[in-house]
Amino acid sequence: MKFYNTLTRKVEEFIPNEKGKVKFYTCGPTVYHDQHIGNMRNYIGHDILDKTLRYLGYDVLRIMNITDVGHLTSDSDSGEDKMVKSAKESHKSVMDIAKYYTEQFFNDFKLINNRVPDIVKPATGEIDMYIKIITKLLDEEYAYIEGGNVYFDTSKLDDYYKLTNHKEDEMVVGVRDGVEFDSNKHNQADFVLWFTKSKFDDQELKWDSPWGYGYPGWHIECSGISIKYAGEYLDIHGGGVDNIFPHHTNEIAQSESYLGHKWCNYWFHNEHLMDNSGKMSKSKGATLTVTYLKDQGYDPLAFRFMCLNSHYRKQLIFSYEALKQSEETLNKLKNKISNIKDDNNFNEDDFNKYNNEFKNTLENDLNTANAITIIYNILKDNELSGNTKLKLIKSFDEVLSLDLIKEDNIDNELLDKVNKLIEERQNYKKEKNYEKADQIREKIESLGVTIKDTRDGVEIIWN
Ligand code: AMP
Ligand code: ZN
Repeated sequence: MKFYNTLTRKVEEFIPNEKGKVKFYTCGPTVYHDQHIGNMRNYIGHDILDKTLRYLGYDVLRIMNITDVGHLTSDSDSGEDKMVKSAKESHKSVMDIAKYYTEQFFNDFKLINNRVPDIVKPATGEIDMYIKIITKLLDEEYAYIEGGNVYFDTSKLDDYYKLTNHKEDEMVVGVRDGVEFDSNKHNQADFVLWFTKSKFDDQELKWDSPWGYGYPGWHIECSGISIKYAGEYLDIHGGGVDNIFPHHTNEIAQSESYLGHKWCNYWFHNEHLMDNSGKMSKSKGATLTVTYLKDQGYDPLAFRFMCLNSHYRKQLIFSYEALKQSEETLNKLKNKISNIKDDNNFNEDDFNKYNNEFKNTLENDLNTANAITIIYNILKDNELSGNTKLKLIKSFDEVLSLDLIKEDNIDNELLDKVNKLIEERQNYKKEKNYEKADQIREKIESLGVTIKDTRDGVEIIWN
């Protein structure tokens, strides 16, 4: 298995710490707002990596947090807490907001057939762990207290910027948008581990700590949850490319200083979903969610299909035309698959040949578009038995999760009947007896099935 490791900036062979086992952490949503389809593209990328590893036989432990405290309106330490701001605007409590958007998130997550990670933990539930880490960082002088807050001292590290390509001077205040000068910080790159004093002191959720009543910074939650549930050594940690700096950079700094050794070997990042005005983001106003697409009559899996047809490391531009196109292509593909007749004739060699091709293509930095092409090759292969084709596609769908074979929905008896009628109709058409051919079409339609003549033959549309 190979995929791009942001830390080494190359596509690398994946070697887990413990043979056959993978500990994989995904940064979860900030639940102050709906997660848009851009966020969901990121989770689809993670889902494919998760399912590919399982398909290849790894025993995967996947962990994800839910950010319900500490993420400020700027990804650095300035601005108001996103949760508090949202709660104030809607006159609700922070916990109500978190509960509502967490539910919405998992609804949409499931609509696109993402597997829920093995462990999901809200940030507010793990305060003891953050206190433990921060205490040690202070003891070992990786952190300091200034103006009532606890800060991580980035000058203690020689390689603070190792995850990014950026030079230190590109990161200073005034260069990056929305980052304010903080006179408490000894170096402007330093970041907050614990707030007891902030400009926005109306934080609803606060906890007792050795440094006063307060709340954690955003980055500490992912270090804390990951180390608590995955242990000291993590194999893969991922997020969107916007998480590389400062979030993941800061996670590495605090985790490795706390642990005293390298923490995570592979950093996996997904490129953004864009709209025609740039990166899709929640602060832009109306939020395009998976539920919204569904309410507009689109199949949520058409969105998944659209994502899988592009590479996770390439930006993808969303448009309704592209989504519509994607839905049409997916429906055609599903129709072709539903026309495969199960001949009960399984050929193991053929299965292994295509299955290995599928594995190889995913092992090669998750080439999902190519994996889909393999399905078309299977459909075209006249040497392949129907049963082998169906078994292959069913197996591939464990990773792709496009509901390519809806066994429950297909009535095999009905399918047989329809196929016989189609054959009869084709014969009449050959004889140019269109009247009879039309009568048969009507008969098929009376069974609740629509047929469509295409260049590749007759498509069955299950109503
Ligand atoms: P947030 O809820 O803001 O913490 O974001 C959740 C995840 O979505 C993060 O890992 C981001 O990197 C990712 N993300 C945010 N915007 C986009 C986008 N337009 N396309 C893809 N991923 C995104
Ligand atoms: Zn995180």
